[in-house]
Amino acid sequence: MEDNTGLIRELVIANRILAREGVVDAFGHISVRNPNNPESYFISVSRAPELITVDDIVEFRLDGEPIGDLRGRTPYGERAIHGGIYEIRSDVNSVVHNHSQEVVPFAATNTLIRPLLHMSAPMGAHVPIWDIRDNFGETNHLVVTMEQGRDLATTLGENASALMKRHGCVCARRNIREVVMTAVYLQATAKMIMQAKLLGGEIDYLTPAEVDLCNVNQLGPLGLDRAWEYWVMRSSYKD
Ligand code: MN
Repeated sequence: MEDNTGLIRELVIANRILAREGVVDAFGHISVRNPNNPESYFISVSRAPELITVDDIVEFRLDGEPIGDLRGRTPYGERAIHGGIYEIRSDVNSVVHNHSQEVVPFAATNTLIRPLLHMSAPMGAHVPIWDIRDNFGETNHLVVTMEQGRDLATTLGENASALMKRHGCVCARRNIREVVMTAVYLQATAKMIMQAKLLGGEIDYLTPAEVDLCNVNQLGPLGLDRAWEYWVMRSSYKD
């Protein structure tokens, strides 16, 4: 068995950061693919991210079946979101799902969230909107079957983020730090677009080429290491 101690510690820290930055609350989750077995991923059992410790992290196959003993604990009902994305995106090693109150109004009104700040670049030039109703009709809006998870993953496509109508969003990236950056600034971008709309006039967004250029910094050590150190300091995680 390979040692994933460092990776699991980073996943716990990411949970605390996402909570501190207001991206998740009682709900929402982050996972990381097992680098020693790409057919499985690590995620917490069903708890609020702010409360998660190393002991809460468990491993699942991509189809959502647990690897090892859950010891009576309840898994997240929506883990199909993670497995569905990992199945079709071999480039993705970390996934965030949340119900950001800043993000939800955009999907509700079919309004695209587009990058209007250089720091918005990690969310990608295009953020598609998924509606569970399209293929599953009226549901409780939870993504609980692999078919639903795969359907969401198909809408996400090659993008870094997708909105989920009447529900929230997903972000998918190469590693934990990148996906945290993506989720934090997707929410911040939603807030800024809302403010720009209040000012009126047409919003002048980044072009796709500018998004790529900005991501060299935002997803490189210049942006990522600096942000991570700051976020860890602000979070409730203590060594
Ligand atoms: Mn959800």
